[in-house]
Amino acid sequence: MELKSHPDVLIIGASTAGCATAESLRHEGFTGSITVLGNETSAPYNRPPLSKHVLLGEWESEKADIFTDGAAERASIDLHTDVTAHALNTAERSVSTSRGDISYGALVIATGARARQLPASVDPDHVALTLRTREDSVLLRERLENSRSVVVIGSGVLGSEIAAAARKKGCAVTIVGRSGALTLGSVRDLLTQRLERLHAQNDVELRLAEGVASITHDGTTAHVTLTSGEQLDADTVVAAVGAIPNVEWLESSGLTTSPALNCDSHGQCAENIYAVGDVAAWHDSRTGRWLPDEHQLTALQHSQAVARHIATGEKAEPPVPFFWSELYGVRFQAYGRFPAEAELVTTHGDRESGDFVALSMLDGLPHGVVASNMSRDFRQARPAVDATLSGTPAPATTTTPSTAPLGGQS
Ligand SMILES: Cc1cc2nc3c(=O)[nH]c(=O)nc-3n(C[C@H](O)[C@H](O)[C@H](O)COP(=O)(O)OP(=O)(O)OC[C@H]3O[C@@H](n4cnc5c(N)ncnc54)[C@H](O)[C@@H]3O)c2cc1C
Repeated sequence: MELKSHPDVLIIGASTAGCATAESLRHEGFTGSITVLGNETSAPYNRPPLSKHVLLGEWESEKADIFTDGAAERASIDLHTDVTAHALNTAERSVSTSRGDISYGALVIATGARARQLPASVDPDHVALTLRTREDSVLLRERLENSRSVVVIGSGVLGSEIAAAARKKGCAVTIVGRSGALTLGSVRDLLTQRLERLHAQNDVELRLAEGVASITHDGTTAHVTLTSGEQLDADTVVAAVGAIPNVEWLESSGLTTSPALNCDSHGQCAENIYAVGDVAAWHDSRTGRWLPDEHQLTALQHSQAVARHIATGEKAEPPVPFFWSELYGVRFQAYGRFPAEAELVTTHGDRESGDFVALSMLDGLPHGVVASNMSRDFRQARPAVDATLSGTPAPATTTTPSTAPLGGQS
C-alpha cells in the first residue's frame, strides 16, 4: 500500500495504543487521513493474551489481533507494518522513517516499550527468554511444552503469570526475585502474602530475596546461580524483569524522555504532538510528577483522550490507572493509586487467602481499590476512588463498598 507523505494524523507504533487512537479518532467523527506505522512485521495485536491464553495453548496468537475482518480498511486507516521511525524533526513537522520522510498535521507517539534483558555480565549467552511479542509467546509456549523445569527471573506480575502458565503445563517452577516480595502491577507489593500463598498452593518454589549471579547452559540444561551460591537447574529460563520505553528514536527531537516521554496531563508533549500508552508518562497534577503506567486499559484511555482532543479540541481528564491480571484462575483487578504511605484496608472477604475487596486509604480517603474475583463490589467502590482522585471526595458513607454477598459477580 502506498505510504502517504502528509497524513493529517500520523501515528507511530501499531499496537494497542496506536491502533486504538486511530479507531477512536473515527469514533470521534474525525474525517481526515490517518496513517499508522509499526515496525513489527505481523498484523497488530494485543499483548495481555500472550502470557495467558496464548502461552497456555488456549488461543492461537492470531486471536489476539486488533483489527479483524478488514476493520482498518473499513475505517479508512492506512496501516503499514514493517516501517521503523528513526527520528522526529519538530520544526519541520516530519518523521524520518525506513520508507522515507513523512510530514504530519498531528503526530501521536505510541512506540510502547520492549522487554528489559538481563545484563550480559549475568547472561552472556542469552539463555533467558523474554516475553513481549507474539513471536516470544509462541517460542515460550513451545519451550514450556518440552520442559520439565522452569526458572522465572522476576517477581512482578508477568513473572507470576509465566509461572502459573508453566505450572499448568506441568513444569516444576521456581520464581527468583531480588526485592523480597511479589508485586502486582500498580498495587506493588501490597498483596505479596496473598500471592506467595497462591504460588505455594500451586507448588511454585520462591526465592524472593535473591539476585542472579550467572546463567550458563551446558547444551542440555541451564544453570542459574543465585547470589547466595545456590544453583538452580532448569530446561527453560525466562526473564521478566521489566520494560524499557522505546524513546531512542526521539533523541534529537528535543522532547523530554526520562525514561518515558513526558507529556502534560492530557497527553500533549509539544505543539500537535501527543504520546499514548507505555511510551508515555502523563503529568499528574495531584502529585506534580510524571507517571508512567504500563497497563493495557491505561493505553486505551490515553488513546481515547488524545483522539478526542485531536478530533474535537476537547481535553479529557487524565485516566485513573486500571490494571488486571489472572493467576491460577483468580482474577485480580486494581483501580486508582496505591501510594506507599497509604494503608490497605480489607472491606470484604479475606485478603490473605480468599476473594476480597480492599481500599488503599490515605488521610481517610480511598485512593485505590483492589479485588480478587469480586467484580461487582470492585465496580461499586470505584466512584469513591474517582471522587478522591478528582478532588471532590464523596461523603464518607459512599467510600465504603456495598455489603453485597461475597464473590458477587455480574
Ligand atoms: C505478555 C504481556 C502481558 C500483559 N498483560 C497485561 C495485563 O494482564 N493487564 C494489563 O493491564 N496490562 C498488561 N500488559 C501491558 C500491556 O500489554 C501494555 O500496557 C500495552 O501493550 C501498551 O500498549 P502500547 O501500544 O502503548 O505499547 P506496545 O504494546 O509496546 O506497542 C508499541 C508498538 O510500537 C512499535 N515500535 C516501537 N518503536 C518503533 C519505531 N521506532 N517505529 C515504529 N514502530 C515502533 C513496537 O514494535 C510495538 O509494536 C501486558 C504486557 C505484556 C508484554
